[in-house]
Amino acid sequence: MPIAHRSAIGTNSLKADVVIGAADYHFIETKLLPQNCRRYSDKYWEKRIMAPSCLLYYVGLDKKLEGVLHHSLFFDSDFEIHGKEIYTSKQWPVDPLFYVCTPSVTDETVAPAGQENMFFLIPVATGLQGDTEELRERYFEKILDRFEKYTGQNIKGSIIYKRSYSVSDFIHDYNSFKGNAYGLANTLMQTANLKPACRSIKIKNLFYTGQLTVPGPGVPPSLISGEVVAKEATKYYG
Ligand SMILES: Cc1cc2nc3c(=O)[nH]c(=O)nc-3n(C[C@H](O)[C@H](O)[C@H](O)COP(=O)(O)OP(=O)(O)OC[C@H]3O[C@@H](n4cnc5c(N)ncnc54)[C@H](O)[C@@H]3O)c2cc1C
Repeated sequence: MPIAHRSAIGTNSLKADVVIGAADYHFIETKLLPQNCRRYSDKYWEKRIMAPSCLLYYVGLDKKLEGVLHHSLFFDSDFEIHGKEIYTSKQWPVDPLFYVCTPSVTDETVAPAGQENMFFLIPVATGLQGDTEELRERYFEKILDRFEKYTGQNIKGSIIYKRSYSVSDFIHDYNSFKGNAYGLANTLMQTANLKPACRSIKIKNLFYTGQLTVPGPGVPPSLISGEVVAKEATKYYG
């Protein structure tokens, strides 16, 4: 985000006093900067432990459900196995836990009267290959079976809208490193000043903000990151 005096210095160039990169940190460093301006090596990025990505389904139903809450967490399969599939073996999960959000239960403005607005979220490892329509369909069937069994209600026959979103979409739409959805995992060795720094050491007026730098992932930390960097940039620029 160039601030202060902006003047075009070429077709694809924009002169700026300060630049704040709010897109994916890895993407800015490795795709937008020349090699000699990067702070972190490919090896560094490969060693980062990423928080999960996810497989999402946005669903609209032509009826209301009974007894379903705004938030439902399905811990009806083995948590440990799913955790290993996300962080250790990094594979598509065999029998994943999942989360279901039905906001139309508490907010009537998010769906037409008599209908339901839902999304289903399966946490998955980052960097997964084989994110195909067939695979997404298989998981959808799997979790809907469990959802229907648990709630005792048929929903497959009432779906009037469905859209899925996963690893390859995060990469395509957001340039997200390995398709991550929630940034870096919160491990001790990736905490505070051990995170990618919010200021470039190679380009003095380049700053980074967002979930891959301090203080970390999530909406509140990302907003704080913006505040921190705005102060740093103001200090630099005077
Ligand atoms: C399904 C899901 C559920 C979540 N739930 C929660 C939750 O309940 N609570 C919570 O706190 N957090 C949640 N998160 C995490 C939270 O959304 C993120 O941590 C946060 O949005 C990250 O903010 P950010 O500013 O770093 O990135 P983003 O919000 O992704 O913003 C980066 C922006 O950069 C843009 N961009 C990318 N490349 C370029 C480019 N080349 N040029 C220009 N712009 C570009 C993108 O379009 C995007 O708008 C969730 C995330 C997901 C995916």
